[in-house]
Amino acid sequence: MRFHVQHRWQGWDADGRLVFDTPEGARRVEAAASVLALGGASWPQLGSDGAWAPVLQARGVEVAPLVPSNCGFDIGWSGHFAQRHAGAPIKPVVAHWRDADGKEHALQGDAWLPRPA
Ligand SMILES: Cc1cc2nc3c(=O)[nH]c(=O)nc-3n(C[C@H](O)[C@H](O)[C@H](O)COP(=O)(O)OP(=O)(O)OC[C@H]3O[C@@H](n4cnc5c(N)ncnc54)[C@H](O)[C@@H]3O)c2cc1C
Repeated sequence: MRFHVQHRWQGWDADGRLVFDTPEGARRVEAAASVLALGGASWPQLGSDGAWAPVLQARGVEVAPLVPSNCGFDIGWSGHFAQRHAGAPIKPVVAHWRDADGKEHALQGDAWLPRPA
């Protein structure tokens, strides 16, 4: 994998190439397939500004309204709990895990209880 930092995707040109704004000017890239992982719109300071939505909409792609969301955790909640709280934020949550070297970690944040499919 190669990372190209300071490349801001702007959309496609008339020939279907991806167009990026870079410190060296516009860069065009031909790609057989593209995965867009551009986040939502709640953290514009770090680039997640949702500016991609109108670009896709202009090409006929249906985009659901952006809403705040946490990461969903599907860990076998009880039926009662899932039914009562599906779609609700769970906070605060402290996740504990052990890495490959056996070192313990803990991190506090929020989670989200997914709605049943
Ligand atoms: C203050 C705050 C606290 C949060 N706390 C929690 C929490 O405790 N628990 C939780 O589960 N979730 C939390 N969230 C939500 C969580 O951060 C997001 O749901 C998650 O980061 C989304 O991941 P993502 O990979 O989809 O997008 P992002 O992490 O937003 O990544 C998208 C990336 O795409 C880049 N990008 C966007 N547009 C372009 C473009 N045109 N060209 C090039 N690059 C582009 C952005 O710079 C960014 O690096 C929080 C969010 C905020 C703002």
